[in-house]
Amino acid sequence: MTVDLIAYTQRVVPTSDKNPLDIVEEAASICYNSSMTDDYKIAKGCKASGHYSVLEHINFTFYVKDVSRALLAQISRHRHISMSCRSQRYCSEDGFKYVNPFTGEDADVFDNMMSDIDTDYQILKKYHNAKNEDARAVLPNACCTEFYITMNARALIEMSHLRLCSRAQKEIREMFTEMKREVAQVCPEVASWMVPSCEANPKYPFCPEGRGCCGRHPLLADVYKPIEKNKEVVDGNT
Ligand SMILES: Cc1cc2nc3c(=O)[nH]c(=O)nc-3n(C[C@H](O)[C@H](O)[C@H](O)COP(=O)(O)OP(=O)(O)OC[C@H]3O[C@@H](n4cnc5c(N)ncnc54)[C@H](O)[C@@H]3O)c2cc1C
Repeated sequence: MTVDLIAYTQRVVPTSDKNPLDIVEEAASICYNSSMTDDYKIAKGCKASGHYSVLEHINFTFYVKDVSRALLAQISRHRHISMSCRSQRYCSEDGFKYVNPFTGEDADVFDNMMSDIDTDYQILKKYHNAKNEDARAVLPNACCTEFYITMNARALIEMSHLRLCSRAQKEIREMFTEMKREVAQVCPEVASWMVPSCEANPKYPFCPEGRGCCGRHPLLADVYKPIEKNKEVVDGNT
């Protein structure tokens, strides 16, 4: 897997501050008729109070390569992203690369299966006149793809809450871990907010996963005892 941050929002008139949070700071300062601070106090305050829309002013674009089509199916469910990905209509997948999720002997078995599928794909095209777009029906979810993906900081943070959870699939978790590493080079604050949902509120970590809890943080029910006057609200939500 390759994950490269290739672009992020910058000012038209460059300043010495390359951190895109500087732009969030400026945009957010208008809300309070206040002046920008050097340490992004206003932007951080907005994040802490849930005023997340200010984070929509800055974008990040990544180039992602050698991930599976299974990962593509998952990431493309998020509606606040822009993507351009390798087409299986216009590109031939002869001798396709794939992501092998297994190890040891199981990995060898999987390699053989992929080789058989590659043969089937090429048979369809060579002997049955199949176009790429029809022959691809035989290709596996493991088939590698590549894409460019752009999203604003809010979408990136909120997707990370879901995809950095230990319940998310390993491959997509790894991709978000790499994205976080890349973002940390240019905007450490946004990277620090890219955490699993159990840590979205750092003062009060709790797991929203119920029985799927990994044990990293307690379940909400383990730390919160609903008081009697809230009983109706609690019952309505369960
Ligand atoms: C561990 C895990 C397992 C999953 N398993 C399945 C599965 O088995 N089957 C399956 O189909 N999907 C599955 N998904 C995908 C999941 O249902 C979502 O489609 C995906 O995570 C995108 O998240 P989202 O819809 O919250 O947010 P996004 O599309 O990223 O949007 C962000 C937020 O914007 C708001 N929003 C966006 N669009 C609307 C809208 N139309 N109306 C109202 N509010 C909106 C919501 O608040 C939403 O949370 C799984 C996801 C995870 C993380």
